Amino acid sequence: MIALREVRQEYPGRDGKTVVALDGVSLEVRAGETLCLIGTSGSGKTTLMKTINRLIQPTAGQVLIDGRDVREQDPIRLRRRIGYVIQKGGLFPHLTVADNVGLLCRLEGWDPGRIATRVAELLRLVTLDPERFGDRYPAELSGGQRQRVGVARALALDPAIVLMDEPFGALDPITRAQIHEEFLRLKAEVGKTIVIVTHDMSEAFKLGDRVALMDHGRLVQVGREEELRQSPASPFVSDFLRSHLHA
Ligand code: ADP
Ligand code: MG
Repeated sequence: MIALREVRQEYPGRDGKTVVALDGVSLEVRAGETLCLIGTSGSGKTTLMKTINRLIQPTAGQVLIDGRDVREQDPIRLRRRIGYVIQKGGLFPHLTVADNVGLLCRLEGWDPGRIATRVAELLRLVTLDPERFGDRYPAELSGGQRQRVGVARALALDPAIVLMDEPFGALDPITRAQIHEEFLRLKAEVGKTIVIVTHDMSEAFKLGDRVALMDHGRLVQVGREEELRQSPASPFVSDFLRSHLHA
């Protein structure tokens, strides 16, 4: 469903040096699968996500969605088909929960009645009571509730693909465990192709059908939990597992 072929992304760095954020990344994400991208800070995870919905046009290489190069697809239509939950939720502070969740529907020109119905449905899907939460502002929510609103907003137009950049990063362990269970239920319910960025290996194994481990702009290994555990591709992988797993 999503395919990256030899994707390279360079940024102009300080003092004229080039930062290579993605260094020849090839990766396939299958329809209906959840892939967890994991790696240290600065390894290129956010950059990789942004090449998928064309927020970034890579320096070299190709990104295909359903076999078609994203460069040939209309960026607006593409972003409608791809829900994006950005790091820290990214809600608009001056909009209510309902207006945040209904934002994309409004941009699509839906009538207010249809938007209200959809917003209520989405809030219930992420276990927030529309009556209680619809009129609140993001500042009046807990971290976990804000994350749920971010997820609801990304699902508004029923996209086939959902990209989530560290969606559960800032949560306390209990809320996190709870939201993991909800995610797994939601995933079974909505049947999307999902890419999640995390820097927590146990989260990656818990939520992902497969895990893709990155280091310095390169994909080090992609596979299921057993594959990474039993046949690590390099000492980096086994070291990473040892230092990022408690069990
Ligand atoms: P991650 O999400 O894994 O932490 P990023 O994709 O955000 O990593 O960043 C990868 C590398 O690219 C880092 O070295 C970062 O500093 C650099 N980088 C990211 N965005 C930019 C930018 N807009 N301009 C210059 N360098 C950037
Ligand atoms: Mg990032």
